[in-house]
Amino acid sequence: MRRVFTAAIAALTVTTAGTLVSGVPGQAALPGDRPVPVAAAPAPGSPGLGDIYYPDYGNGGYDVDHYDVRLRYDPATDRLTGTTTILARSTQDLSRFNLDFLLDVESVRVNGWSATVTREGVHELVVAAPRPIARGQLLTIVVRYSGVPSETLVNGYTGWTRTADGALAVNEPESAWWWFPANDHPLDKATFDISVSVPTGVEVVSNGVQPGSPVAEAGNRTRWSWRTTRPTATYLAFLAIGQYDIVTDTAPSGQPVINAYSTTLGERGPAARASIERTAEIVDWASGLFGPYPFEAQGGVAGPVDGIGFALETQTRPVYGPGFWRRGANTYVVVHEQAHQWFGNSVSVAQWRDIWLNEGFASYASWLWSEEQGEGTAQELFDFTYASYPAESPFWQVLPGDPGADRVFDRAVYDRGAMAVHQIRLAVGDEAFWRILPAWTTEHRYGNGTVAQFQALAERISGLDLDEVFQTWLFTAGRPTVATARATATAAPQQPKSWTKIREAHQLLQR
Ligand SMILES: [Zn+2]
Repeated sequence: MRRVFTAAIAALTVTTAGTLVSGVPGQAALPGDRPVPVAAAPAPGSPGLGDIYYPDYGNGGYDVDHYDVRLRYDPATDRLTGTTTILARSTQDLSRFNLDFLLDVESVRVNGWSATVTREGVHELVVAAPRPIARGQLLTIVVRYSGVPSETLVNGYTGWTRTADGALAVNEPESAWWWFPANDHPLDKATFDISVSVPTGVEVVSNGVQPGSPVAEAGNRTRWSWRTTRPTATYLAFLAIGQYDIVTDTAPSGQPVINAYSTTLGERGPAARASIERTAEIVDWASGLFGPYPFEAQGGVAGPVDGIGFALETQTRPVYGPGFWRRGANTYVVVHEQAHQWFGNSVSVAQWRDIWLNEGFASYASWLWSEEQGEGTAQELFDFTYASYPAESPFWQVLPGDPGADRVFDRAVYDRGAMAVHQIRLAVGDEAFWRILPAWTTEHRYGNGTVAQFQALAERISGLDLDEVFQTWLFTAGRPTVATARATATAAPQQPKSWTKIREAHQLLQR
């Protein structure tokens, strides 16, 4: 999980004339003017969704229901060609709207009409409405495109990882830009059909289930199809293309389990299997804590040795880099990524600033698993983590509740984030805590949430004013004082057995 650059572009609004101006539209009225009802002239959709950290991520004026991503890919050249069909509905009268995308666009059609496209900024594809679009209109947007994603760079960086035998489209928050045009923000979730034609003998793994077996195509090619019918944030859609052993099974819940293991893993392969094959067990355990598993399939992908160095909670099927298996099995990273299926995937951030709702809870889940496995309690992990960062460490200067656009995956978001969850648990007591978590995942299922909403829910269920613990642990710089016996004891806390593996997982996840 990482973002490698920040497109810190100042918020821009677009006038109806199509010129870019800074500031807020509609403030040009002369003193003394009375507000006049304005005819609903079609206006441009905004180039962003108001994200405080990444103002131009996502787009306004429409809401996507479904992406049909149909690709052709050649590992030998990294050449990607495709057609994405976007089913959407306009949320305002539109003269134009934006998609977030980087590859070369050959054509765009809107409800069958050929549309003119231009580019603005780093990743904004501007689509002029070929006819005026009324609010509430159903839109079918067909984009044909091609490119070499590994050579399509933004600030020298690509979110598409080319490997010796294929590629990984796995990144956060920027991933879609390199393989499908999107309204690229967690506020606009959609369902996905993803299909990729590759040379026969290459495997393609993606989200959800396979609606059918791979189909042979002309030219010794095979088309793989995947489908997810639950709302999915665009950064949680993924591709793993290459040489994979695919292992299928049925979970105790009856759901399909589809795991995939890169054949490049060599001696790390067994450790990857000994970790990822426990996914169904971990999902079962987590369901007892967080509420029913929100998706239609389970699994994991062990990526190749030359792929990603991190792991990502791609929906229904996290992708793990090879580093997690270098010292044997590591179920803590599996727990972390599976916990995200509830915290992050089903309930997504409304603003990227709310990243603690993802990483704090996924990290805390590893502490809970440690306790379950008899490798150290959550309290012992809190004590040891707290003691491991001296008061003067810069670690304590990063606020998990508002880390800044360049630090959304800072270690403080993980470690202090988990400590914050533990302090909230201590403040409300176990009885309330174990009602708050499933209430959160139920009330915001398939939607979004903010830290303020989580605090309000925790206060409602516990009947307590929790402002002090939220402010202290999420929004105040410096090491908070704690009153637990162990933290105030003179002897340093003992290292829990799980510490090394949790630490190693966090070091690969954060940056
Ligand atoms: Zn995470």
